[in-house]
Amino acid sequence: MKPTYQGDAGSGKDVVGITVEKVTVIGAGLAGSEAAWQLAERGIAVRLIEMRPLKSTPIHSSDRFAELVCSNSLKSIDAKTAAGALKRELARMGSGLLKAAIAAKVPAGSALAVDRDIFSQEITSLLGSHENIEIVRKELEDLDEIIASELPCILATGPLTSDSLAASIQRMLGRDSLAFFDAAAPIVSSESLDQSRLFAQSRYSNDEKDYLNAAMDRETYEAFITELINAQRVVLREFERRDLFQACQPLEEIARKGRDALRFGALKPVGLTDPQTGRRPWAAVQLRAENKNRTAYNLVGFQTNLTFSAQRQVFRMIPGLEQAEFLRFGVMHRNTFINSPQLLDSTLSLSRIGLPNIRFAGQITGTEGYVEAIGSGLMAALATFAQIKGLPAPVLPQQTLLGSLLHYATNPQTLDYQPMHVNYGIMEPLEQHIRSKQQRYIAYSQRAAQALEGFIAAHNDLMFLSEYQLPVSQD
Ligand SMILES: Cc1cc2nc3c(=O)[nH]c(=O)nc-3n(C[C@H](O)[C@H](O)[C@H](O)COP(=O)(O)OP(=O)(O)OC[C@H]3O[C@@H](n4cnc5c(N)ncnc54)[C@H](O)[C@@H]3O)c2cc1C
Repeated sequence: MKPTYQGDAGSGKDVVGITVEKVTVIGAGLAGSEAAWQLAERGIAVRLIEMRPLKSTPIHSSDRFAELVCSNSLKSIDAKTAAGALKRELARMGSGLLKAAIAAKVPAGSALAVDRDIFSQEITSLLGSHENIEIVRKELEDLDEIIASELPCILATGPLTSDSLAASIQRMLGRDSLAFFDAAAPIVSSESLDQSRLFAQSRYSNDEKDYLNAAMDRETYEAFITELINAQRVVLREFERRDLFQACQPLEEIARKGRDALRFGALKPVGLTDPQTGRRPWAAVQLRAENKNRTAYNLVGFQTNLTFSAQRQVFRMIPGLEQAEFLRFGVMHRNTFINSPQLLDSTLSLSRIGLPNIRFAGQITGTEGYVEAIGSGLMAALATFAQIKGLPAPVLPQQTLLGSLLHYATNPQTLDYQPMHVNYGIMEPLEQHIRSKQQRYIAYSQRAAQALEGFIAAHNDLMFLSEYQLPVSQD
């Protein structure tokens, strides 16, 4: 029997339950493994499809599930930090992968670092021995069968989704809906900017003030270029170098072509008048608001391959950015992700394009980071479970860390979408501004914990798995 499903899962309205034989989860990385575990623990049969070891990606090196492809750190456990508060949310909702990470932890101060072999071995055994999970080792090459079956599916094939599946996703969503390269400019918090050194103005307009501009005189520009071209860069891997030409060029590469190249590119001053001098500056950096609350700004045209410490050092030479707090550093690397804000509803499903049973989770949604992938896997599973049982769609409050990230990723007003990890800069501002950064972060974190309790109370039927404690931070 074909399942029946009606209603807009993103609207928060009740939906009609569906009858399913099995939920298909594609990709046993961090997101897919968490999603499969959450569903299986609630008694839902899961078919988990993983292509390794029959076919691997350029970065995975084993046949295990939830392999950590790079660093073995899952970042801070300090609840004051955004990364720590996110972990507390996942522990509260009973994340299986975070629990396994804590069990596999190695000493790393206030960070949660794990023995990657123990961690992925544990997840592989946990899922492999679960009575509700069928493991299928094959590359899923296209989605035709999944779409035709109308049965629920969670697609979590990560930043290195196989080529044939990526082509199938493009056929389903449209050519421009899938990016293969991440060329993100840094984002800084607005409160860390010295506004007295910046001026609000749009190019060629005396009235519009959509951008903040940092004017540079000749001397400042020359010093900036010298540092930029000599700064330390990230060495790209071979498979990423092949893709680089398809993406826009990094700032430092353009600067290397000639000392004035950036004055005719990202730092061009045309159409701007510096109110301090009444003249067009020698060069200007533009900052564009990242959200409607203007709590974060991105540096326009600053996609870069500089190391994070080099970015901190060089970009703080920009007038007004001397104390800049980087909410996200610029990155350029191979990364397959969909245009989530235009495609996904708030439960990560494709209901907006008439495919409410298909959900995305993990890095392929453009949410970035190991723990963020676990979080979106968990939420995709909860939403699928709610859909099957006819329960109200679970949408986390924006005051939570995970809720704010998923809102950012699925809000159609998010333009020029580039991958994002959790941070306080994309959260709704506090009702009352708190000057001390430390106190402000504590207030954000406490508000998030409270909002999560409200969510859990309102969605009790989702059968949250048991809460557990995070290790105590050494800070
Ligand atoms: C090079 C690189 C380094 C990174 N380093 C870090 C880091 O240090 N810290 C951090 O927090 N984040 C890092 N990230 C970002 C991100 O957190 C990780 O990529 C994370 O693993 C994403 O989880 P995921 O579940 O979305 O994807 P993955 O963990 O990659 O899982 C996807 C799974 O899908 C499988 N798959 C792919 N295609 C198919 C198919 N057609 N059929 C069946 N299975 C398929 C893959 O084999 C894989 O097992 C990095 C990303 C990249 C690309």
